[in-house]
Amino acid sequence: MTNILLIEKNKKKLSWKNLIYIADLFEASNVKHLSLLGDESALHPDIVDYVLYLLQRNFCVNVVTGGIVTNRILETAQNYLLKIPVENLSFVCNYNHPDFLTANETKQIDKFLTTFSKYISLNFNLSQKDFELKFLVDTIIKYNLKKHIRLGLAQPIREQKNECLTLNEIRGIVENIGNQLEILEKNRITLDFGCGMPLCIFSNNDIGRLFRLNKGKVVFPCCPTIDIDTPTIDIDTDMQVWTCFPLFAYEKKSLYDFDNIEDIQKYFSEQHSNLRKDKKGMFEECKTCMYLNELCTGGCLAQLVNNE
Ligand code: SF4
Repeated sequence: MTNILLIEKNKKKLSWKNLIYIADLFEASNVKHLSLLGDESALHPDIVDYVLYLLQRNFCVNVVTGGIVTNRILETAQNYLLKIPVENLSFVCNYNHPDFLTANETKQIDKFLTTFSKYISLNFNLSQKDFELKFLVDTIIKYNLKKHIRLGLAQPIREQKNECLTLNEIRGIVENIGNQLEILEKNRITLDFGCGMPLCIFSNNDIGRLFRLNKGKVVFPCCPTIDIDTPTIDIDTDMQVWTCFPLFAYEKKSLYDFDNIEDIQKYFSEQHSNLRKDKKGMFEECKTCMYLNELCTGGCLAQLVNNE
């Protein structure tokens, strides 16, 4: 997966020129899926035109957003994007518990979820050991969203103090997930994991339930794919490229250093292998684990390099 940052914390926005360069590079590399995201991707003034442009060039587009959209953008999106088939366009909404939202944010998210329900699935990043999935299930049912939840783990970010779980806390969250599988099973809502969820914290019973719930697809990836050879690539508004958000302060390259996407993936794949050479994974047990690389990536790379 490749993520293109549309807007950054310092409010710097991706230009048309850079978007077109990225689209050309991806087209030449025969990669047809792109994800647009940013501090608040839906606030980029040209977001609707960017999506339409990429769709016109036959890309499948995913937009990652908190769902806080201005009325002007929502109206334009409503006029143009609702005609797009769901196979070509999707939204992943990073959804927080309503208790943490202001009344205005709740109102804006409500409009977004109501309007684009058929395109939307929810993502929730765990940064605290006590959590509940019920509010996500209630939201999916209320707005008739896609019946799927992606559960990520907030990871340590180099040079930043961000809220995330310790290794011991990660071992402890499984009880909480196991206790909440029933509500997902009852509502036939699938659950997948992103960002370093380790296999070994789950009991065989819970793995079996997840296997049935997800119709046989249960993976424990570092990036959103179990395949360690295809790392997630992020491109920022200045055309800097790195692998996956928690590693953005680790090492960046310029997009102009590469001729195609395959070379970028190869470069970062080698970087990953080098970083995992000694420690292997986030737990001591990863060094001798029979599931390493086959069924589990040994947790998120950020746990290895940002926790040193
Ligand atoms: S590789 Fe590490 S995290 Fe994954 S199952 Fe083995 S010990 Fe657990």
